[in-house]
Amino acid sequence: MTLDPSRLRPATRLVHGGVQRTHHGETAEALFLTSGYVYDDAEQAEATFSGKVEHYQYSRFANPTLSMLEQRLALIEGAEDCRTAATGMAAVNAALLSHLQTGDRVVAARALFGSCHWIVSTLLPKFGIQTEFVDGGDLAQWKAALSRPANLVLLESPSNPMLDMVDLPAVAEMAHAAGAIVVVDNVFATPLLQQPLKLGADVVVYSCTKHMDGQGRVLGGAILGSKKWINDVLQPFIRNTGPALSPFNAWVLLKGLETMALRVDAASRSAASIADFLAEQPGVIRVWYPTRADHPQQALALKQMTAGGTVVTFEVAGGKDGAFEVMNSFELILVSNNLGDSKSLATHPATTTHMRIGEQERARLGITDGVIRLSIGLEDPDDIKDDLCRALDRLNTAKPVLAAN
Ligand SMILES: *Cc1c(COP(=O)(O)O)cnc(C)c1O
Repeated sequence: MTLDPSRLRPATRLVHGGVQRTHHGETAEALFLTSGYVYDDAEQAEATFSGKVEHYQYSRFANPTLSMLEQRLALIEGAEDCRTAATGMAAVNAALLSHLQTGDRVVAARALFGSCHWIVSTLLPKFGIQTEFVDGGDLAQWKAALSRPANLVLLESPSNPMLDMVDLPAVAEMAHAAGAIVVVDNVFATPLLQQPLKLGADVVVYSCTKHMDGQGRVLGGAILGSKKWINDVLQPFIRNTGPALSPFNAWVLLKGLETMALRVDAASRSAASIADFLAEQPGVIRVWYPTRADHPQQALALKQMTAGGTVVTFEVAGGKDGAFEVMNSFELILVSNNLGDSKSLATHPATTTHMRIGEQERARLGITDGVIRLSIGLEDPDDIKDDLCRALDRLNTAKPVLAAN
């Protein structure tokens, strides 16, 4: 009996999707830690290379453990096909460089992950590819930028770290009319909370390092799209430039995916309740969380996402000193620039992840010196609230200690 994975619900797809069991009948996915493959004879090798026979050739091109991960990711995303890469940035880079050529034009939302920003603003111009940046939430700016022909649109929604939303169907329609494909970096939402392909995007990219591993162990990246685009455009680039993911890391990611629905659901629930909690605390100037009533794009978030995600951003009084005071007072929450981990992590974007973009660009994005990005983990949310309470109390010693519950 064979299972039809398209009939399965997301949590089940994450456990069973893409499994290719060997003749040994193993329960867990097999780890094919092999660089190459052998043929029965020279004729089979010839037939493989001429495309008459399907046979693994070399793990830079394809590997059975990677294939399982790619099929599972395609199933959970609702994409025709998927390729993986060694890191999220290798995935973004492959998606852009495989599609673009000299003279092409990119339109990108300003609020991009730092290295994505570097690729479009520093690397692509070296090859004669220009990028116009827009404020992702402003459809008038998208309209103006896409009134001229373009080749590729790159955006993140929700964005890092201010959780700005982009109206995906509206931007996709304008992009397609301008001749561009839409590439969405969907790391913050995960495929469980938002599926950009259903909202008009053509390609979705992930850092699997974040929620897919979800336990801070391995780096990985993924690119999802149509079979035709992946076969014709992406696959030759990956095959010949070699950003291949290690089979071991692919195996860790397969095991990470098995628990992703449980983890993202728990962390997202905690994040929503922590966002509400933070908004009530003295010393907190403002909280950003996509599904909160005070988020300027709450309606859009509720339309595009099934929950607000695992990241809460907030601004404390006292600027950088205030933010550092709070972060240095945490006993449970760890100071780290990573996110999507089972451990709650706090980042000061202005001095770390967004230091290089400069003060002016930070101001445009609303990243003030008092902003702290909080990636919520799998701890009991009341323990996280206790830790926040303790730290905020140190910031505002005039205030008596608040009960966390
Ligand atoms: C982490 C991250 C990346 C880069 O992924 P790596 O696995 O670190 O290379 C890209 N985009 C977003 C939104 C990220 O959070």
